[in-house]
Amino acid sequence: MKPIKYLVFALVFMPMTIFAHEPQLPLDFEQHTLEQVSQHIHVVHGTQSLPNPQTRGFMNNPSAILTHGGIIIVDPGSSAEIGRQLLTKLRKITDKPVIAVFNTHVHGDHWLGNQGIRETYPEVPIYAHTRMLERVEAGEGGTWVQLFMGMTEGAVEGTRVIGPNIGLSGGEVLSLDGITLKIHHTGHAHTDHDLMIEVVNDKGLFFGDIVSSRRVPNSDVPQDASFKGSIAAIKAMLDEDIAVYIPGHGRSGGREVPESSLLFLEALNASVTHYFNQGLQSYEMKDKVIDDLAEYQDWNNFNEIGRVINFVFQEVEQDNF
Ligand SMILES: [Zn+2]
Ligand SMILES: [Zn+2]
Repeated sequence: MKPIKYLVFALVFMPMTIFAHEPQLPLDFEQHTLEQVSQHIHVVHGTQSLPNPQTRGFMNNPSAILTHGGIIIVDPGSSAEIGRQLLTKLRKITDKPVIAVFNTHVHGDHWLGNQGIRETYPEVPIYAHTRMLERVEAGEGGTWVQLFMGMTEGAVEGTRVIGPNIGLSGGEVLSLDGITLKIHHTGHAHTDHDLMIEVVNDKGLFFGDIVSSRRVPNSDVPQDASFKGSIAAIKAMLDEDIAVYIPGHGRSGGREVPESSLLFLEALNASVTHYFNQGLQSYEMKDKVIDDLAEYQDWNNFNEIGRVINFVFQEVEQDNF
């Protein structure tokens, strides 16, 4: 498709296709429901819109694993308010205390809600990859709060940076109140420190942002990603005995969830490599790659594909250096 034609297509049809996939999604966190996806796992599936005043910054999949005597929270959302509201939703199904929190990676939509949990449970341990602890220590949390303050026109006001305090590196098996969690880290993927959390009891896997359902992989912060590493991580997890996959964004489901991200990443990588081998520069191949990926044009964030192609190009170039 020619660029002008594509632009017209995007302008005319994008809002309609986004609407078609999220027909009646309410906008802010409070209106979303906590859904049970397996015996112990409950997920609030977020909207896929970028943080804005209407969503008050909400866009990820805040989740909870209910144990016999407590609650384990995974990625409590993008603001103190969302963390508090997650507790309010959980109170409708259990009166048990929060015994642990996990953060899959440093992108602010996943963990700035820690504050909302720590206000009620000041001693609760917050687990993340050691590298995330270092990056928060270096000041990335403040950058995310500022970014969301701007994007939401102040809706995340009052959110403070409460980082994780227990570092993991992958390979750990944690037993928490009868729930066995296997921690996976397969190297640089969506970031240099992603944790994937397997709930062995339920054959469930929290993928973090290595997999998002119907969203262009690594399109929000492509400068943080290894696209090859993302492919390797998804393949590694598809070899595990998993029945339900919880993506960082979008609906949970079976193997089709990681498989569709994998197919996208492989098609993108193959297309960029093909034109690289023909001697094309990133800007020269952009429209051709977009044409090759035409079947994905209704995925969320497809309008960011140009930026994504730049980063894939750099990776392919480095590999051939
Ligand atoms: Zn992310
Ligand atoms: Zn995210």
